[in-house]
Amino acid sequence: MSLSNDPGLLPRELIRLDAKVADKADALRQAAALLAAAGCTRPGFEASMAKREAAADTFLGRGIAIPHGMLDERDLIQRDGIAVLQVRDGVRWNEGQTAQLVVAIAARSDAHIGILRRLTRLMQDVPRLERLSRTENADEIIAALAGDEGTAPAAAPATDLGQSFDWVLDYPSGLHARPATEWAETARRFSSRIRVRHGAEAADARNMLSLLQLGLKAGDALTFSAEGPDAADALSTLRIVVAGLSAREKAQAAQAEAKRAAAQAAGGWQPVHAPDVDDARVIDGVSAAPGLAIGRLHRLETGPTEIPDAEPGKPEDLARAADRLHAALARAREQLRALADDTARRLGEADAGIFRAQAELLSDPALVIHASQSLVDGHGLAWSWNRAIEEAAEPMRRLGNAILAGRAADLRDVGQRVLALIDPVLARPTPAELPEGTILIADDLTPTDTAGLDPARVRGLVTAQGGPTSHSAILARTLGLPAVVGAGAALSRLTDGAEAIVDGTGGRLYLEPSEADLASARAWIAAEEGRRELDAAARALPAATTDGHRIEIGANINLAEQAPFALAQGAEGVGLMRTEFLFLERAESPTEEDQYQAYRAMAEAMGDRPLVIRALDIGGDKQVSYLDLPREENPFLGVRGARLLLRRPELLVPQLRALYRAARDGARISVMFPMITSEPELIALRETAGRIRAEMKAPEIPLGIMIEVPSAALLADRLARYADFFSIGTNDLTQYTLAIDRQNPVLAPEADSLHPAVLALIAATVKGAHAHGRWVGVCGGIAGDPFGAGLLAGLGVDELSMTPRDIPAVKARLRGAALPALQALAERALAMTDADQVRALALDPQVES
Ligand code: PEP
Ligand code: MG
Repeated sequence: MSLSNDPGLLPRELIRLDAKVADKADALRQAAALLAAAGCTRPGFEASMAKREAAADTFLGRGIAIPHGMLDERDLIQRDGIAVLQVRDGVRWNEGQTAQLVVAIAARSDAHIGILRRLTRLMQDVPRLERLSRTENADEIIAALAGDEGTAPAAAPATDLGQSFDWVLDYPSGLHARPATEWAETARRFSSRIRVRHGAEAADARNMLSLLQLGLKAGDALTFSAEGPDAADALSTLRIVVAGLSAREKAQAAQAEAKRAAAQAAGGWQPVHAPDVDDARVIDGVSAAPGLAIGRLHRLETGPTEIPDAEPGKPEDLARAADRLHAALARAREQLRALADDTARRLGEADAGIFRAQAELLSDPALVIHASQSLVDGHGLAWSWNRAIEEAAEPMRRLGNAILAGRAADLRDVGQRVLALIDPVLARPTPAELPEGTILIADDLTPTDTAGLDPARVRGLVTAQGGPTSHSAILARTLGLPAVVGAGAALSRLTDGAEAIVDGTGGRLYLEPSEADLASARAWIAAEEGRRELDAAARALPAATTDGHRIEIGANINLAEQAPFALAQGAEGVGLMRTEFLFLERAESPTEEDQYQAYRAMAEAMGDRPLVIRALDIGGDKQVSYLDLPREENPFLGVRGARLLLRRPELLVPQLRALYRAARDGARISVMFPMITSEPELIALRETAGRIRAEMKAPEIPLGIMIEVPSAALLADRLARYADFFSIGTNDLTQYTLAIDRQNPVLAPEADSLHPAVLALIAATVKGAHAHGRWVGVCGGIAGDPFGAGLLAGLGVDELSMTPRDIPAVKARLRGAALPALQALAERALAMTDADQVRALALDPQVES
């Protein structure tokens, strides 16, 4: 069935021009009422549409939303039909999305196909869309949605709109993803059309991908133009935002340059005889991660896989394909969240940001729209998705700009992730199964590949493509793997198993090395290892200041397998074992027995050392689908952490039973509760713990709390009567104190835990705790920052717990300072006006530490 041969699908009474709509729920209500009145649906369809909204995003982009019912509730549809609400003022659909045409679809069969095809075509024709959202003639809407004439996709015209200003891009690294996100977010706050033009090419300022596709470099002259009711406002705001980002972009580029210069100055290895310029046994590339490694080449086949298309004449069922795509996207986002979480723990927050940004790329509606277009043209789902990714990535790669090439690689990486979820047969081979002593050769490596490498097997990386600023290169540096990128086509002639030396510092791969070169490289590597061993010996020393004040140092780890590495880095215990991981990567809650085993294993791995296990902190950014938690507008301000534990005894009780069982069996553990905001919460949790302990005849264990919200910090003095210890979660404390969503990439530079307001709350916590003889730790990210760690010690914090990799530098910092100097530093920091000023104290010659 198609729209054009079924005039009954869109009769005029199903169109409401200039609908007055209070909010999204009201829009659904009105659309459902129209469909019901026309005899298309039975009662219950509105609820079905609302359920669908909770499960998937029905916003197509460019002001169009296509609400529809749940797939398994099609029996609520009596006959196919669509209702259109024209909302001239727009209705907020989801965060950052405003719908002006709400196209509610009631379709039992394949009516979605025709509608989507027209809508997706129509979306390429922005002027016509704008007319439709204002027209007073319902026939225009019927013609656009039900007519057969297609509107051919048009390239963005390279002309300017009514009002404009010129600006020369002065970001040293060009327009990369982060500033582009900020431009697009600013543009989306206005209803006017806004265009950014560079020479003959123009982009829609609301669309981050289209901005990136312009491939803008420092020095490019741009024209920003706008047309619409708030055009003047939009342009003046954009001007402030784009120019305001210059200082930050310049500072970041200078920092990166300084790091590169320092790495180069550190010197590297040279072969015994300098090779000839044209020596075919030397392949030159670009240094991406320093260090030297000897190993055997192993090629990772990452070439494009053939993506199957639908068989001719047998198109996909569009509704099913759309559902599969939504499911794959949702799962990919979940995976990226878990990967970011894992990377944050293994390698640190900065590297985790790579995967958070990848998730952001997936949110671009243009990808789904392009995939829908191919689907409605009769292509298969995997093919359509791959095409949408390639159409976005290829132009960026071709521009010859290293930053854009990096973004193209990220886009392909997320695209590949989704592809593997659409059809597992299309999954790329994982680099995890590599022989020991491998020098990995590949055309390119995605961040996902690199993050998944096992440094115990892989000694070095060489890629034909990629740039030193690519996310894979950043990850290789963190993993400590020497890496060379951009080595070109010469890699294609190499054979697996051949011995080679990779010099990550000099950016070279040496093939068929002579015995003399191998011996010299081995000596260099041994000397390097000797230096590392000296560092390791220093790591094992306690974190005592020069005047003998000792700070306990813990590791934030979740698995017993991570304990040996943490101990090798100098951890003296575990200050934070997050237990969410037990719940996040499975299909149902772990049993009491599962949990007991995990806690026992960690306790055994830690021996006599202290182990602080945190009770489940679900909610906020950590969602578990099988718990069926209600969807919340602001999950970070909702039922999270202790609030959830108190409402869901089926989660709290088995966990406490498992913990007390481990304690009864000799585990030396402490337990702390997350997200405490008040005394009654803590008292209630203690009561439950006491009851379970008595039932199980288990020994007492210290029960502490996390200080993560300002109320808890301010009430520390009172909470200390019931808590045996405090551990400050500065990640959340910063989020709640500064009102900055911890996942917001745009505000990330401002979400600095060294903000004086956060420091003041830490000082208040220490004061309240020490008044009752309780110890205070910090287990948020700032504990792993050497300067931050010194400041926290100066504020009186007794314990610091961090990602294992951060421990050596923190210990070195504390061992190099005297407590009175750190206290003076803390005093000064509390008097500063912002976090930048606090950080600047690190460079202040008057600050002695
Ligand atoms: C924190 O909030 O600082 C913390 C350590 O907890 P999480 O990061 O797990 O929320
Ligand atoms: Mg927290």
